[in-house]
Amino acid sequence: MTCTTCPYCGVGCGIVVGPDNSIQGDKNHPANFGRLCSKGSALGETLDLEGRLLAPQIGKREASWNEALDLVAGKFRAAIDEHGPDSVAFYVSGQLLTEDYYVANKLMKGYIGSANIDTNSRLCMASSVAGHKRAFGTDTVPGNYEDIEQADLVVLVGSNLAWCHPILYQRLAAAKAERPNMNVVNIDPRRTATSDLADMHLAIAPDMDAALFNKLLVALHDKGKVNGSYVEQHITGFEDALNAARTDMDCGLSDKDIAAFVALWAETEKVVTIYSQGVNQSAVGTDKVNAILNCHLATGRIGRAGMGPFSVTGQPNAMGGREVGGLANMLANHLDLENPNHRNAIQSAWQSPVIADRAGLKAVDLFKACAEGKIKALWVMSTNPAVSMPNASEVSQAIENVPFTVVSDIMARTDTGDLADVLLPATGWGEKSGTVTNSERRISRQRAFLPAAGMARPDWKIICDVATRMGYEDGFAFTSPAEVFDEYARLSLHTAQFGRDFDISGLAGMSAEQYDALEPVQWPVKKDGTTTERFFAEGEFYRPDGKAKMLAVTPPRNIPQPNFLRLNSGRVRDQWHTMTRTGKTARLGQHIAEPFAEIHPIDAKNIGVKDAELLRLSGENGRALLRVLISDRAQVGSVFAPMHWTAQFAANGRVNFAGNSVTDPVSGQPALKGAVVSATRYDAEWYAFAAADGDITSGRPYVAKMRSDTGWRAEIAGVKSPDCWEQEARATLGLTSGDALIFEDKRRGTIRIAIIENGVLRGAFFAAKSPVSVARGFVTSLIGTQDAQHVLAGVPGADQPDPGATVCACMSVGKNTLRAAIAEGALTVEALGECTGAGTSCGSCKPELQALLRDIPSLKVAAE
Ligand code: SF4
Repeated sequence: MTCTTCPYCGVGCGIVVGPDNSIQGDKNHPANFGRLCSKGSALGETLDLEGRLLAPQIGKREASWNEALDLVAGKFRAAIDEHGPDSVAFYVSGQLLTEDYYVANKLMKGYIGSANIDTNSRLCMASSVAGHKRAFGTDTVPGNYEDIEQADLVVLVGSNLAWCHPILYQRLAAAKAERPNMNVVNIDPRRTATSDLADMHLAIAPDMDAALFNKLLVALHDKGKVNGSYVEQHITGFEDALNAARTDMDCGLSDKDIAAFVALWAETEKVVTIYSQGVNQSAVGTDKVNAILNCHLATGRIGRAGMGPFSVTGQPNAMGGREVGGLANMLANHLDLENPNHRNAIQSAWQSPVIADRAGLKAVDLFKACAEGKIKALWVMSTNPAVSMPNASEVSQAIENVPFTVVSDIMARTDTGDLADVLLPATGWGEKSGTVTNSERRISRQRAFLPAAGMARPDWKIICDVATRMGYEDGFAFTSPAEVFDEYARLSLHTAQFGRDFDISGLAGMSAEQYDALEPVQWPVKKDGTTTERFFAEGEFYRPDGKAKMLAVTPPRNIPQPNFLRLNSGRVRDQWHTMTRTGKTARLGQHIAEPFAEIHPIDAKNIGVKDAELLRLSGENGRALLRVLISDRAQVGSVFAPMHWTAQFAANGRVNFAGNSVTDPVSGQPALKGAVVSATRYDAEWYAFAAADGDITSGRPYVAKMRSDTGWRAEIAGVKSPDCWEQEARATLGLTSGDALIFEDKRRGTIRIAIIENGVLRGAFFAAKSPVSVARGFVTSLIGTQDAQHVLAGVPGADQPDPGATVCACMSVGKNTLRAAIAEGALTVEALGECTGAGTSCGSCKPELQALLRDIPSLKVAAE
């Protein structure tokens, strides 16, 4: 058995891996107590080596490690010598372990002498970091997960916790079930799976969260709910913040809803406000964070059980990256780059030749510098900016413009890796050893239980190997992650003098065995072994005067943009980032099998598009083609689209093209949820569904493919019907041999083709003039069988009910099965579980079971 940690989201769930690589939740891990969501449960299905990068590559040819490392070190050395330290850059990732992050940051800031290292966490929570620092003086998350369970009111702002942090959501849902008087408020322009748990859903106008929290601050004051003694002793800026808050702004909510929210907040002492990307990914993200913090500070509802602001991070080790100084404007141990004493302390601990003395390029600026030719050598580690950055097409061109780009990744093909001069194979989850920090400051071990794939090496080792070849062997002579961690923990001995929040000196001096056995532990862990469970109940903030600062926040006016939609990009339940791992498992692909655009019926009518047709979204820098999902969950004037689909899975599914690179002026975080797009119906002449035992390829404008249990499945559409449908089918399915069974219904304009070889069904192709109506699960289940005779019917016989689109990925229960069970009288989530098994494993689908029970049309995307 190996105890390790989930590599997906910032909840940081503990996992127990069995000798047969079976995956279970770790009952002893304080983040999840044995639970896992659908993504975590399916980790065992992502361990195969298909698609893995198994050896270094220079250009498209395989190379030895020595050759590749020499080339990387030589190119970086030459760029620095010729153009200076700021001519090189690292773009790293919240997927890295703390040890990887630590050495990358040390190399760039302490040896190369530039701070041009930024991370994809910039896209996720930089505004929370900046908001924390402005208010508290440090990037401190004051509370812990138990607070969410102990609160009497939980306010979720810009957070679809049910899908993006499912285990935290389950803890919240369980607490609410146990204490029905607990109230949950969900503030989100869009009604989501999380809203279904909420007592109150406030469909706020996009980006107007600060206006609402300003109204709350004023109301708290006017109702006499300000904690006068706390404010007097521990806060500055109260009056300014209150005066700014008095500027009345329309936040898109009715007076009645605002009054109800304010009354609930004012009358409930134990309030936790959880916020996430909906707050952070904005041009005013830091102000939104501070508007939230202001309300907690004014009432002193912070740092005590069941109360406080709570930023939840997207990535598994976004917090670890913040702690080691993995952002371009930070130093390790939450110290400040602009403070000479802080810099001296870090440099003397490292005994490094230099220390960066000014902030480096933040993500958006970093890629702009690439486009402008200022970056001569770029190293992208464990991330896919060609997809995930705003304005992704321009970012791709910017990367191409860099004279030398190296990408270290686990996958051979990613949109960014395709642009690299050198690819370096990194070890994947299961092969890596190190630590991560979750959203509640809890450091957990990730432990290896698999040998490294092919020639893959851990990221920390690759970085040290390059550093050594650059002439920095003294600072990078680590032989294990335990040694890296020990140096990192010892750094706290040098920085504790500054009295900052982050201190893990109590973990210094561990042996390799102790490191290996390290139990999940929340920082700080001071030299004397003491910790701080929650921060700021008694003030003791980290600003120079020891007080917190309330910020005067003036939200922007919400200016409607007629004829345009505001693009809200986000996540779906069963996929992770750009699907490089979750895309490997067929089970996860059945929940939502293609990229979609969710719009309100009023917008759909104005555009003239019907459900399941295709929508063309056009932004400043590109276009996407997505399946339309018409739902009153969307707000009029907005479109929601998932950000997971890349060129590897969809022809035109990337939605981050649309960002115009506007960033929050304080945090540098891109306004990923603030792009403006025009939307038009795409006039497809034909639509198709295809399933095959091998990969599916099509040059048509709309292609979205996904793995199935029997191979691949795909949705396709084109503007002009092909001359020969059999040729189209064979080319798409990659099947040149075998017999084709063809059934054409000219009256209905449909064609159905099955390719059978040696009696086995190898592929099926269904085309129609309108979105194809076919039982997709049924068709894919027949691929590879000798039971090919039924496939052209497209639906199972009466004796074989079609389960419909998958709702419960763990137990493979479809929507039709659930509807039938509801019709039979299963009228609670528990009853549905008993009848069908749905929701009885990881529980991630419970919000959708609730939605079905309430007869809310939740997901029509993967058409039944
Ligand atoms: Fe992994 Fe799910 Fe836990 Fe997040 S909630 S850490 S994705 S198991």
